[in-house]
Amino acid sequence: MQPPRWKSSEPNQPAGVSSVPRIRVLLPLPLAAGAYDYRIPAGMAVQPGDFVVVPLGGRQVVGVAWDGPSDPDLPASKLRDVAGLLDVPPMTETLRRFVTWVAAYTLSAPGAVLRMAMSAPAALEPPPARAGWQLANAEPPSRMTPGRARVLAALRPGQVMAGAELAAAAGVSSAVVRGLADAGMLVPALLPPGRAFAPPDLALPGPVLGPEQDSAAAALRAQVAARDFGVTLLTGVTGSGKTEVYLDAVAECLREGRQALVLLPEIALSAQWLERFRRRFGVDPALWHSELGSKTRAKTWRAVAEGEVGVLVGARSALFLPFPDLGLIVVDEEHETAFKQEEGVVYHARDMAVVRARLAQATCVLVSATPSLETLNNVESGRYRHLDLPERHGAAGMAVVQALDLRKTPPERGRFLAPPLVEAIRETLARGEQAMLFLNRRGYAPLTLCRACGHRMRCPNCTAWLVEHRAQKRLQCHHCGHAEPIPPTCPECSAPGTLTPVGPGVERVVEEATALFPDARRIVMASDTIPGPAAAAAAAAAISDRQVDLIIGTQIVAKGWHFPGLTLVGVVDADLGLAGGDLRAAERTLQLLHQVAGRAGRAEAPGRVLMQTFNPDHPVMQALVSHDFEAFMHAEAAGRRPGHWPPFGRLAALIVSSEDEREADRAARDLGLAAPRGDGVEILGPAPAPLALLRGRHRRRLLLKARKDVQVQPLLREWLERVKLPNSVRVQVDVDPVGFL
Ligand code: ADP
Ligand code: ZN
Repeated sequence: MQPPRWKSSEPNQPAGVSSVPRIRVLLPLPLAAGAYDYRIPAGMAVQPGDFVVVPLGGRQVVGVAWDGPSDPDLPASKLRDVAGLLDVPPMTETLRRFVTWVAAYTLSAPGAVLRMAMSAPAALEPPPARAGWQLANAEPPSRMTPGRARVLAALRPGQVMAGAELAAAAGVSSAVVRGLADAGMLVPALLPPGRAFAPPDLALPGPVLGPEQDSAAAALRAQVAARDFGVTLLTGVTGSGKTEVYLDAVAECLREGRQALVLLPEIALSAQWLERFRRRFGVDPALWHSELGSKTRAKTWRAVAEGEVGVLVGARSALFLPFPDLGLIVVDEEHETAFKQEEGVVYHARDMAVVRARLAQATCVLVSATPSLETLNNVESGRYRHLDLPERHGAAGMAVVQALDLRKTPPERGRFLAPPLVEAIRETLARGEQAMLFLNRRGYAPLTLCRACGHRMRCPNCTAWLVEHRAQKRLQCHHCGHAEPIPPTCPECSAPGTLTPVGPGVERVVEEATALFPDARRIVMASDTIPGPAAAAAAAAAISDRQVDLIIGTQIVAKGWHFPGLTLVGVVDADLGLAGGDLRAAERTLQLLHQVAGRAGRAEAPGRVLMQTFNPDHPVMQALVSHDFEAFMHAEAAGRRPGHWPPFGRLAALIVSSEDEREADRAARDLGLAAPRGDGVEILGPAPAPLALLRGRHRRRLLLKARKDVQVQPLLREWLERVKLPNSVRVQVDVDPVGFL
């Protein structure tokens, strides 16, 4: 850590004769105690929000001066001094309140949330200084050439320019500049740090919006211009032009001189989105996601804090960036579960985006073709506004969606594509159009079974089957990363060569498609073949340029791609997401399949979607076929309302885990016995979590279900305080769980 730089400002006045000036400091560490008190040494001024260096044990730690009164009972003699003040824009009150709010809501240590807001440590160090030239207060030199005169004329008094830039501006060689310096006419000076991000060009026209887009955009612009908090749900089928509409709101936000944040569920797959942004604003937006290098992180964090970044596009963690004046937050694909962070501080970025917007007096726009029931419920109750784009933009109509009944037309034995789907692909390819096959399952086969004894290959660390990955000749656990070679004999009965793959993964569909359509140019889009943004961009370009006929992939293919030549989408297993007891299984399956279906027929040629299913009458299939999302969500709501299930009631999950199974059981039982009781509160469990063993830890689950008017955080806090658990037991609290694994 560099020695702290001191900022010059008025020192804090002692509050009284006997008391020493003190300040609370929150450290980016998961300490339950929250902020600690420190003494402000004489001559130093510290305000809430300042980044400070303080001693902690034998270390020096960077923290943030925090709000609130310090502990009056703590004797001054116990206080240690603030060691220094960092030269960084202070953390705004809005962000401090946001950190506190998120911590309280999620039952996390405030320091754990602060850590997310300080996730680029190098940004707190001063940016490297660059040297340039400035006019000296000197007499003109005896030898004055036209070149020298141009150099001196190029600099205003006080202005600093880099040598090369100055030479270019004057149209001279750098030797002329150096000569002037030697003559004492120019003196070295530090350059102000350059702009790391070019400002978006607001003069570019943008596309001419259709009438419905136009009125939606006008409503959003008005809301942004009001500089007040408000949430709007923007809906419309895939391809209706929602992105163009909210980019208009982004432009308005920039005109207001405020900053805009766009959250995307999977930034690594957003090459096409970035291209559109570039077309609209002439520059790249600032990016924020986990794959950024530490230098870029630091540069971006600092540029955001200094207000230099106009628009930032990021993953959920971007919500914790130090925007000084956020005017707009867009959450695109607001229904996506990728917005939920399941580790560490467990939070939902969509919900926290609304909170941050409220604290910042900003507009929040939630965007989706298939919004979550939570959001629809907020529209219904009048908390959110709603704008809808009813039609696809331009000539594209909605794709025809059909359920393909696998009971009536099953695939051949050992195959997974039913004859009508095979035929449709054949016709599509014959017309020179592109087809896509979707199966949300990586690898070759989800289960490997012994034909002789029925033994199933399981992960030793997780309640999960091992998935065969044929290219690597390995069995893999998709939960913990455990991998082993496929054994030549069954580990249970020792029979040789009896281990058989059961069911399809995407690799197996590729194998079948290769046999059926050997001449079709294929691309596989799964997380192992598309490891990062560059690969995703290359894949998208190859498909758009028609170098590919057949696209086969996992949920990666469902993202917002726009492939004009793609007219057929085949869903290999539409029932996949419906299994399991998850509250939102049907809703989520509908959202995913609708999004996949939305890839078909985005240009003039009409699109067709074939979904292979054993349940063609299932409400999800019916909703997709009829394009009646609203009726489906009404039925969903009617199913959840009576039992007070979310969003009509509250839910919080406690996951108790230990490496020792009996200890996990004991801890879960003790928590169960101490569970809160009362009106409108119900405890479900303890029960083994669906993933009863995960990464070697045994997991038990308790669910607290409460009526909507019950505040669950105090209940949870008191509950956890009542039970003393061994240190080897972990309890993870998940308020508003979306996954139930
Ligand atoms: P959505 O976000 O609703 O799926 P998009 O905003 O991606 O829809 O629009 C779908 C396609 O139509 C994109 O290629 C987009 O560039 C194009 N598009 C949308 N609105 C317009 C417009 N007003 N003028 C020209 N092209 C448009
Ligand atoms: Zn595992």
